[in-house]
Amino acid sequence: MAPQIKYTKLFIDNEWVDSQSGKTFDTYNPHDGSVIASVAEGDKADIDLAVAAAKRAFHRNSEWRLMDASQRVRILTKFADLVKRDSEYIAELESYNNGMVMNLAHRFIGSCDNSIRYIASLADKIQGSTIPVDGDLFSYTLKQPVGVCGLILPWNVPVLMFASKVITALAAGCTVVVKPAEQTPLTALYLTALLVEAGLPKGVINVVNGYGETAGVALTHHPDVAKISFTGSHEVGKLIQQAAGANNLKRVTLELGGKSPLVIMDDADLNQAVPFAAFGVFTHQGQICIAASRLYVHSKIYDKFIAAAIEYAKTIKVGDPKDPKSTQGPQIDKSMLEKVMGYIEKGKQEGAKLVTGGKRIGNTGYYIEPTIFVDVKDDMTIAKEEIFGPVQNILKFDTLEEVIDRANATDFGLAAGIFTSNVENALQFSKHVEAGVVWVNTYLATSVHAPFGGFKGSGLGRENGFDCVNAYLEVKTVTMALPKKC
Ligand code: NAD
Repeated sequence: MAPQIKYTKLFIDNEWVDSQSGKTFDTYNPHDGSVIASVAEGDKADIDLAVAAAKRAFHRNSEWRLMDASQRVRILTKFADLVKRDSEYIAELESYNNGMVMNLAHRFIGSCDNSIRYIASLADKIQGSTIPVDGDLFSYTLKQPVGVCGLILPWNVPVLMFASKVITALAAGCTVVVKPAEQTPLTALYLTALLVEAGLPKGVINVVNGYGETAGVALTHHPDVAKISFTGSHEVGKLIQQAAGANNLKRVTLELGGKSPLVIMDDADLNQAVPFAAFGVFTHQGQICIAASRLYVHSKIYDKFIAAAIEYAKTIKVGDPKDPKSTQGPQIDKSMLEKVMGYIEKGKQEGAKLVTGGKRIGNTGYYIEPTIFVDVKDDMTIAKEEIFGPVQNILKFDTLEEVIDRANATDFGLAAGIFTSNVENALQFSKHVEAGVVWVNTYLATSVHAPFGGFKGSGLGRENGFDCVNAYLEVKTVTMALPKKC
């Protein structure tokens, strides 16, 4: 049975409201393309109201600003309890609106629980320092919330992204306006209701569903928004940074895409490397920013690896995300299906060898066969651009020196990995590869405890880790003259 849809409106100043224009848009089930619900469509007028509410809630005398930091911890921890209480429903809703297979939805909700509790626990550990400046002066720093934050979410892992961005901003003491991705608004709305149930004061969280070109642009250009945190495409990331510079010099955190290299050395344990390489690129039908979408395999084991990779890909069970046996679901929507199929065509045209998959499955829903290209060359489109689909691209290399340079020859720099039994290889690769996250003999092993973010065109700033709240804080230096010596 389909999960019940409880919230479809905008949430502004503690009220569920229709948009000012009265417009709505449909949200879909990627399994069969059917309409799940009509959702209120916000634009500039609604963003203005939401930002005004968040600004009032950020006033120095507001309940939120006067609240003890330890009470912030309690509210956010209670939110974690409520997410746990409703985890089955949230997983079903995520899967229904996003196409994520249930198994993965459960894993993500589980890691949300960790994320929320860890980040919440940082709220009362924000500390400044005392500084030994010269002269008869006493100098110290205060770390203070930056203000109203605009949080723009992607569609690929909506619950995890909501938890990470919203809870970090709130732990820091900011107020927020959230714009969920237009494809997947439903879990963000439900989580907002849980935050209110947990005791968040009026106006601290506001949610405006809508499109990037309208609601998103209004948020990124709003003069009363102090910071934008965004996860999504490289192209939109650049627009957001321009918008931030165009008016009030907003602080910006950007988590953008990647074209992450995974290197398999000739001394790697293939029983480990083959499944991890597949896991790295086929998980969530390839719709993850850290997908291992350039797989460099050493020439000595190239043919053997390919044979094993094809065998492995054939074990992937593509099907209805609700079915517990499915390990791969549909792409998010028709446009992403067409985009990924376009890349597959491009791969064939440019001379890569298709060894398995490559076709759409059926005519309803947005399913694509797990696909492997071999003999891929660095200058082919499928080796350069983020595909965001279930496409493994295998490239051949001869030496570690060579593969490090090839791995770095991209504008992206989000993640990288190496499988090897030689610690020298692991250390050299980890030192020289240009990526914010590097894995050795594993892949996709992320954790809220460790910083996450990209080098180069993959982003700006870091999320997660002990310092994550700093991205939502300003540092104020206070210097006082000491009284005359006694
Ligand atoms: P996108 O970057 O267009 O959208 C992400 C979010 O930004 C959505 O909430 C969208 O409404 C908003 N947005 C779009 N244009 C905006 C603008 N001008 N100003 C402010 N907000 C704006 O991503 P997409 O179109 O959904 O996906 C396109 C590609 O992005 C994918 O193929 C994939 O390569 C990449 N992507 C990456 C991630 C990631 O985790 N890094 C997530 C989703 C998509």
